[in-house]
Amino acid sequence: QAKKAGRNAMRFFDQQMQDNITARAQLEEQMCLALEQDQFRLYYQVQVDRQGRALGAEALIRWEQADGGFVSPAQFIPLAEETGLILPIGDWVLEQACAQLHAWRRDPAMCELVLAINVSARQFRQHQFVEHVRHALQRYHLPPGVLKLELTESILVDNIEETIATMKELKALGIKFSLDDFGTGYSSLQYLKRLPLDQLKIDQSFVRDLATDGSDQAIVSTITGMATSLNLDVIAEGVETQVQRQRLEAAGCLHYQGYLFGRPLPLAEFEQLVRRCGSAADPST
Ligand code: C2E
Ligand code: MG
Ligand code: MG
Ligand code: MG
Repeated sequence: QAKKAGRNAMRFFDQQMQDNITARAQLEEQMCLALEQDQFRLYYQVQVDRQGRALGAEALIRWEQADGGFVSPAQFIPLAEETGLILPIGDWVLEQACAQLHAWRRDPAMCELVLAINVSARQFRQHQFVEHVRHALQRYHLPPGVLKLELTESILVDNIEETIATMKELKALGIKFSLDDFGTGYSSLQYLKRLPLDQLKIDQSFVRDLATDGSDQAIVSTITGMATSLNLDVIAEGVETQVQRQRLEAAGCLHYQGYLFGRPLPLAEFEQLVRRCGSAADPST
């Protein structure tokens, strides 16, 4: 009896593995098609100062399938990283973001915004990455300081010297850097000190229970204090409630991103939102 159950379990496992492989192969094929058929979109989520005025946005990719359905990046970015498709997808995001920044230059309500894009470790390490960024900045005549790259701590796992060298080259082009999902990885303070960062982005897992969890408050205060002493900006992601916002402010964190201020939005809706809440750099708002 036990032997039979074991055999069935094994068969079930095999079937599940097979299904997984098939599903992944399908997803990979669909991603290739999505690039060809222009099914990726950038959504924009506002980042605000303590007065709620727009400082900029984070660009977040969306995949709009032919049937109108959306696939979340959490579902396809990991596979795109594994298969290498993240390279053409990442190039598309970079191009799209720079084109948008270029368009915003001519709009007084939008021209001061800083746009952040997410960059995968694999994309960052590709040999031509700095050249791609340089070309995109040149093609769209972008001034320094308007494009920010969000890196995660996974970038620190190996070859830290090369990471620092690449960051410095990009920095010389006027690129800003934010360390995304900060606190969830394992960056040692030793590394943190050496990276030419501009900003730490407190991961939303610390923000979520801020109203109830005393240790999260301590963590946020510590990150904020550390950022300040390292001369870095700090921003919290995943801010959904006023209570969270207040706790963050009390801990010294003065820049925010989250549903409380705006969801990731298609371009036109994002621009409306910014016109409503005003731009931090605009003295008339
Ligand atoms: P991330 O960079 O940490 O982005 C923040 C995620 O939190 C986004 O999920 C955003 O929609 C979500 N979020 C924002 N505010 C709130 C909030 O108040 N509450 C909650 N619960 N969630 C909030 P999204 O758009 O599904 O993206 C997931 C992840 O996919 C991103 O995490 C990023 O790692 C990756 N990703 C997205 N776009 C790109 C891209 O263009 N390139 C690369 N390489 N990765 C991307
Ligand atoms: Mg991000
Ligand atoms: Mg994040
Ligand atoms: Mg995150």
